[in-house]
Amino acid sequence: MLPAGSTIGILGGGQLGRMMAVAALQLGYKVVGYAPEGDNVAADACSDFITAAWDDAAALARFADACDVVTWEFENVPLAAVAALPERLLACPPRALEVAQDRLREKAFAAGLGGSPAPYAAVESADELAAAIRRVGTPGILKTARDGYDGKGQWRVRSGVEAGALAFPGVTCIYEGFVTYETEFSVILVRGRDGTVRFWDSTANLHEGGMLARSVLPAGALVEAQVPAARELARKVADALGYVGVLTLEFFATREGPIFNEMAPRVHNSGHWTIEGAATSQFENHIRAICGLPLGGTKTRFEAIEMRNIVGEEALEAHKILAEPGEPHLHLYGKREAREGRKMGHVTRVGHAVK
Ligand code: AMP
Repeated sequence: MLPAGSTIGILGGGQLGRMMAVAALQLGYKVVGYAPEGDNVAADACSDFITAAWDDAAALARFADACDVVTWEFENVPLAAVAALPERLLACPPRALEVAQDRLREKAFAAGLGGSPAPYAAVESADELAAAIRRVGTPGILKTARDGYDGKGQWRVRSGVEAGALAFPGVTCIYEGFVTYETEFSVILVRGRDGTVRFWDSTANLHEGGMLARSVLPAGALVEAQVPAARELARKVADALGYVGVLTLEFFATREGPIFNEMAPRVHNSGHWTIEGAATSQFENHIRAICGLPLGGTKTRFEAIEMRNIVGEEALEAHKILAEPGEPHLHLYGKREAREGRKMGHVTRVGHAVK
């Protein structure tokens, strides 16, 4: 168990790191962050924050010297940056990052463990896209294999003609069949150093423009029926990676069963409701796991819960939400610029306590 007063290093400077840092402070730890120049809102909760490029060897060495354990809040941290840190500092094997950074790899990995992704093909050129469309069919989605998030780096393809008009992005892509689903849901688990796994309840996740808008509990009968199979896959993924901390897998609930979409080797936007809604939040359990502390319970505390993201300029007036009925819980991330489509905060509403 990492003693109180020790320092947790977080790679990445966004809101997930900020909320992780708040949980770490509560448990008596100090936090040092590391990320390139940007709106690093995690810095507000860190005793030190190193702003440097991912390939700055001297800065990474300074970061390593300051930390007793290192975790990440962002799955696209370059592997070379992680490899530059002493292995003993890494709470979780970096293979989790390696798999999750590449949509082709994560789909093959999940399929190898019995998961069912949508039909897909790797594409490197416009010709290969045409071939992939012949094999997989339309409608479909072309996605960059790496570095996409919140619907960025994605193009809907309704027909072969439309694909012909698409300027091929010039990087490795994945073309996947469009899934007709009833609901999207995620499985969020925490795995301790000793291999203990706990799951939070799965919310129904509603997306707008490729980005999560709301997470809702209860998630409905179809999701509930598919959660056991989805959890089984998530547990296998976590075990196979020797994972430590919070891991998220996203699924489409279809009439034919759960279709695996992607994984995130970190705390997740669809788990923000756990701060007020569960016995222990995803952030706190992540910190507990990486520090070797006993894990907290994950039980849902209320009969109904809704988490809604606050996006773009809505954040400028967000404090008004506090006057609304139902005791809304407001979280603002302290971002300097309320750009359109940017996650600025979230609000969680809870219903009656579970008896
Ligand atoms: P992703 O970045 O892969 O999570 O995609 C962002 C969102 O786009 C998902 O949460 C879905 O709402 C939608 N989406 C992505 N892939 C598919 C697919 N194959 N079929 C249907 N919808 C998809």
